[in-house]
Amino acid sequence: MIVGIIGGGQLARMLALAGQPLGLEFIFIDPGAGISAASTGQHWQGPYDDPELLRRLAATADVATYEFENVPPATIEYLARHMAVFPSVRALSCARDRLQEKSLFDRLGIPTVPHRPVNSRAELAEAVEALGLPAVLKTRRLGYDGKGQIVLRAPADIGTAWERLGGADLILEAFVEFQREVSIIAARNRAGEVRFYPLSENTHERGVLAFSRARPGDPAAAEACRYMGLLLDEFAYVGVLALELFDVGGRLLANEMAPRVHNSGHWTIEGSETSQFENHLRAVLGWPLGDTAPVGYTAMFNCVGYLPDPKAVMAIGGAHWHDYRKAVRPGRKVGHITARASDKDSLEPAISALKAVLPGHVFD
Ligand code: AMP
Repeated sequence: MIVGIIGGGQLARMLALAGQPLGLEFIFIDPGAGISAASTGQHWQGPYDDPELLRRLAATADVATYEFENVPPATIEYLARHMAVFPSVRALSCARDRLQEKSLFDRLGIPTVPHRPVNSRAELAEAVEALGLPAVLKTRRLGYDGKGQIVLRAPADIGTAWERLGGADLILEAFVEFQREVSIIAARNRAGEVRFYPLSENTHERGVLAFSRARPGDPAAAEACRYMGLLLDEFAYVGVLALELFDVGGRLLANEMAPRVHNSGHWTIEGSETSQFENHLRAVLGWPLGDTAPVGYTAMFNCVGYLPDPKAVMAIGGAHWHDYRKAVRPGRKVGHITARASDKDSLEPAISALKAVLPGHVFD
């Protein structure tokens, strides 16, 4: 079977690495040269909406999927007319737009961050009036990893924030004083079978995920799974879906969803019976899903803008090294490291040892 993936970054690479033992082959459509996924399948180089590449993909692959939500929806619409493609364009379009996403959370009764749409400077002033300060001004589309967002702390920030982001469709969100950030990841296959992973607890630095820890048995998991179930039902979703939430005194507020495998689920490669990557493939192929039970205790460090010495990492018991084969550049995710231990207590020494070899992080 051949799986076509729109995008050839590290998520595509890890999907292919998970799919190879299952006998799958991969084609990546990506305009870049030297993509992360290059060594794991065929790279068809060209724009994500190149009609000829998409026509060839539909004629060659058995199923198509995508690894990031900024794929042009027209690409998925075209593929859907000619082949099986998951997740659906409806889920994709909703996840691409922070306002649509939050309106959906409201409609489904999933508590979310108080917010207002902003299309003019006057609306920004009104939204600040309604939500108070501090608040976060974000572009509705094409923002990721903290890009396209500005925190407003004082009324004087309104002018500068509008100058920096104004013009695009915007959303103002109340600034949430959360205790922690968590995410729930689930897979749903074509037959409607659903599996949830244990909750991940996530630490961001400058808007970018730095550290995730699997939290099997977390008391917030039941609420997170309920919200995830509502979203999966809403879209009759197929594939892996991630939902990021803020934990405010034990109550969860949905921040955003991602219709794809997610960075906070990379620990599932070593830390779950079936990884999120394998389950995404199983889901889109219409295969039975694999068990998502945790295997030991796991945490993951993102390598953002640097790669440590692999030998120093590998010398640490329980550490698993993942190099995305990307050129190191500031702010770029170029690898990750998972630490796994059979019991909770022995995970801590591995985490401490890893912190010592990973420069530039502010953890916990
Ligand atoms: P996002 O791109 O919306 O996931 O934002 C990236 C990160 O910025 C989040 O993981 C939070 O750490 C922080 N953040 C985003 N929105 C808010 C908010 N409304 N209140 C507080 N922190 C936020």
